[in-house]
Amino acid sequence: MSVLWVLGAGQLGAMLKQAGTPLGIDVRPVDIESTETLALGPTDIVTAEREEWPETVATKQLATHSNFVNLATFPQLADRLTQKQWLDRLELATAPWFSVEADSTAAKAHETLGERVLMKRRRGGYDGRGQYWLKQSEGIEIPEDWKGHAIAEQAINFDEEVSLVGVRGKNGEMHFYPLTLNLHINGILYASISPLERLKPLQSKAEAMLSKLMEALNYVGVMAMECFRVDDELLINELAPRVHNSGHWTQAGASICQFENHVRAVTGLPLAPAEVKNQSMMVNLIGVDLNYDWLNLQGLELYWYKKEVRPGRKVGHLNFCSGNYSVLQTALTGLELPSPYPDALTWLAKNLPK
Ligand code: AMP
Repeated sequence: MSVLWVLGAGQLGAMLKQAGTPLGIDVRPVDIESTETLALGPTDIVTAEREEWPETVATKQLATHSNFVNLATFPQLADRLTQKQWLDRLELATAPWFSVEADSTAAKAHETLGERVLMKRRRGGYDGRGQYWLKQSEGIEIPEDWKGHAIAEQAINFDEEVSLVGVRGKNGEMHFYPLTLNLHINGILYASISPLERLKPLQSKAEAMLSKLMEALNYVGVMAMECFRVDDELLINELAPRVHNSGHWTQAGASICQFENHVRAVTGLPLAPAEVKNQSMMVNLIGVDLNYDWLNLQGLELYWYKKEVRPGRKVGHLNFCSGNYSVLQTALTGLELPSPYPDALTWLAKNLPK
């Protein structure tokens, strides 16, 4: 049996490995700093848990393998400039933007995009890192080292943030999970909840958007589309050509989780629609210590990534799934976590159907 290699050995790689086990697939995450000579076979398959990587001994071996699925897509989506160009080319709604170049000025940015403009580094920005606000009232100029390396985006006064996780097989077959409602605090995902009845009217629109993208890119595997909801419209904020944090709830809440779907798709195994079980919620554990007392809470599943705890670092997540809303409300009340978690838990409780 061929091996499925994963470029990157973080938590996403570990969860892909976990999902491959019952399928009998040997999933091997590879640390990008590894200097080992990998025993890559000609029929092995390569995927990635991250959209960009430095050139190292390990990544060079993987990226030159002929079965690296979606290899051409990664650089297209890892660079925010080419990602935005794809969205414009496919006429998919996104925040108005321009490329920050040598002659760009804050005055021009405000003239074209309004009073509040968010610059984002073309590469490497994640979890709110690599962002720089230009506010007209503060008269901030564009720093020289952002020119040629960033895009500028209009600030969107969104109602809320939602994401769609979908999977596409080699034969073009596609399946989607229900839209997920996400809470970001300071640019980092704290909590998700899905499915929500009130998001159902947006589901087919979101699926049509992500289908168009996956088809245009001839993409195989799981892709996530993060959007701003503004009234009944969806504006695409960001695309991730991989399994995504806002899909973690599917581990507890769907018959086939996003990790298994990705493994199935890239290895050419059959895809089938996932049955969604009950109500799910996910809480990211960010910079907090492990506490096994959480396991006393009914409906809770813990994923601990075995990483050193540092402020702002994702070190695990909690999934909750139950058909009984009061069990979920009780679990939220029983979680003792420091600021800003009380806000995130209140947000979840508020969005739980009554
Ligand atoms: P990103 O790194 O693009 O995923 O952005 C992280 C977070 O910053 C998003 O989830 C939003 O909460 C916020 N954000 C990003 N772009 C915009 C925008 N154009 N307007 C307002 N908020 C934004």
